[in-house]
Amino acid sequence: MKTQPQESTRRCPECGKIEHQVNAGKNRSGTQRCFCNDCKKYYTLNPKTREYSEETRKQALKIYYAGVSGRGVGKILGMSKANVYNWIKKNDTNTTG
Ligand SMILES: [Zn+2]
Repeated sequence: MKTQPQESTRRCPECGKIEHQVNAGKNRSGTQRCFCNDCKKYYTLNPKTREYSEETRKQALKIYYAGVSGRGVGKILGMSKANVYNWIKKNDTNTTG
């Protein structure tokens, strides 16, 4: 199996091309800005969200449904509460389906 370098790919959200994309500095929050030479448009790269294993996700939900707040779960597992709430939301929509 080939391992690919963990570089974030510059891809234009307008035309979807990865060619002719150039770095255009960073915005105030430190997000990489890019410029598409085809569309002549600026865009920012989405900050890469850290990926957690299925195991961690299940654990987070388990703790949450045991009565711990989303913030508490985040603290315990060392992740942002937004991430935890995201999982909860997804889980809810799945179960109510
Ligand atoms: Zn483009």
